[in-house]
Amino acid sequence: MTDLPFRILPQLDDLNRTFWTSGKEGKLRFLSCEECGYLIHPPAPICPRDLSKKLAPRAVSGNATVATFSINHQAWMPGPELPYVVAIVEIDEQPSLRLTTNIVHCEPQEVHIGMKVRAIFEHRPDDEEDIWIPIFEPIPTA
Ligand SMILES: [Zn+2]
Repeated sequence: MTDLPFRILPQLDDLNRTFWTSGKEGKLRFLSCEECGYLIHPPAPICPRDLSKKLAPRAVSGNATVATFSINHQAWMPGPELPYVVAIVEIDEQPSLRLTTNIVHCEPQEVHIGMKVRAIFEHRPDDEEDIWIPIFEPIPTA
């Protein structure tokens, strides 16, 4: 608990609650269109592809690929221990869906574009409702 980095936590609402709490079951879930299967993130009440309103949460593998990243050496505000990696990852099931996240459990120098990563979750207890923030770690190679 004590060494969790400072983060600005999201406000939960009916649309984004699934995304921020599915980590409780160790799952990465996005709002998905039931008509065309498109994953909608950030969550919206309507599918941008076919304007369907039949949306439901769908679990994905949690696997992703690093699209770009930067190594942060300077504390701009209270945050994780330095240096840390801020990355944009593309979700395997839908590479156009990109998440800005942190890459953990490896040396920052090891992170590279094209690196395969998987979602893990940082549990943030909260008085109102706990939040599980998706962050990513390298997929071990055999
Ligand atoms: Zn759709």
